[in-house]
Amino acid sequence: MDSKGHLHSLNKQVDFSQNPFIAIWEVTRACELKCVHCRADAQTKPHPLELSHKEGLQLIDQIYEMNNPMLVFSGGDCMLREDLFELAEYAVKKGMRVSITPSATNNVTKEKMELAKKVGLSRWAFSLDGPSPKIHDQFRGTTGSFHLTLEKINELHELSLPLQINTVISKYNYDHLEEMAELVKDLKAVMWYIFLLVPTGRAQRDACISAVEHEKVFRWLYELNKEMPYDIKTTAGQHYRRVVLQQKVREHQLDKDTIRYEDTIATDYASKVDGLKRAPKSVNDGNGFIFISHIGDVLPSGLLPIKVGNVRENALKDIYRNSSILKELRNPDLYKGKCGVCEYRTVCGGSRSRAYAVTGDYLESDPYCLYIPKIMRNS
Ligand code: SF4
Repeated sequence: MDSKGHLHSLNKQVDFSQNPFIAIWEVTRACELKCVHCRADAQTKPHPLELSHKEGLQLIDQIYEMNNPMLVFSGGDCMLREDLFELAEYAVKKGMRVSITPSATNNVTKEKMELAKKVGLSRWAFSLDGPSPKIHDQFRGTTGSFHLTLEKINELHELSLPLQINTVISKYNYDHLEEMAELVKDLKAVMWYIFLLVPTGRAQRDACISAVEHEKVFRWLYELNKEMPYDIKTTAGQHYRRVVLQQKVREHQLDKDTIRYEDTIATDYASKVDGLKRAPKSVNDGNGFIFISHIGDVLPSGLLPIKVGNVRENALKDIYRNSSILKELRNPDLYKGKCGVCEYRTVCGGSRSRAYAVTGDYLESDPYCLYIPKIMRNS
């Protein structure tokens, strides 16, 4: 276990062509909130074709058989799934690490938190998208959501359940990130999980921060990670890994010419120096990451809405290993534009979901990265 309380076994090497590092199951799409960025365009009622309890248990078995990746129950609002804790208990008893990401509504009761603790959930994640009611409630589309979230977090702490804060970074909160970082510390979160907005679902492109702002956020996060007691992880911010590598090289005064930023060497080097305490290789849509929707559709991620199969028709492992789309996503040499020639493509690779959302092509370059690959500078 490291200083931030992480099990080193979480960093076990995984062959991402065979098994994911993390599997997200959208247990329901029902939700009472109206978040402006919602990728799922959630509805108030569960879909009639939602996976049944029995199908859910079978899905958990299938996920477990893929080298027991981390399992996250998401939504919609997962609290609206009545058998949620039965499913969680089943997974935990198999030896899986399970966390949930419910919306902070009155459906989150003390009894449910006690149940979460009793069944042995690893972590409970709440979303906070701003350090004040004005910013958070506007983003979540619900007045009172900020105060309710803080109330629920207090109850969570009374039960000593580890807290994760999820934040979507967008134009709405870009100017308030310092305050947000302090709030995450004050709330005693063990993890700050940052999502860089992808313009899909209800999220609009004009709400995304620019490429320059992404770079500033990553450099700031790199420094923040050193001083804060919580860990920081990014989703749809693959170029954070590139920034971390660059900063480490600067700090250690390494001779750039002696570091061959070629595919395997860069990857190996990244795993040694990144210090992010996460998957040793870059996790990207369909590459170490898999998403199963409420009706069993399999997607590279919740932010890359291309169906590659359905667990009612095929085994999850067959879909994950054999889908031609997933195979393409896992091959950085197929990427187009600057991501395709970038020396960081195996370490970073850019967000495939953002590339798809902006260009319609999941192999295109991440349009929100300002880095110019070495080969393009020299030519
Ligand atoms: S150009 Fe692409 S691969 Fe290179 S750092 Fe930027 S996003 Fe990553």
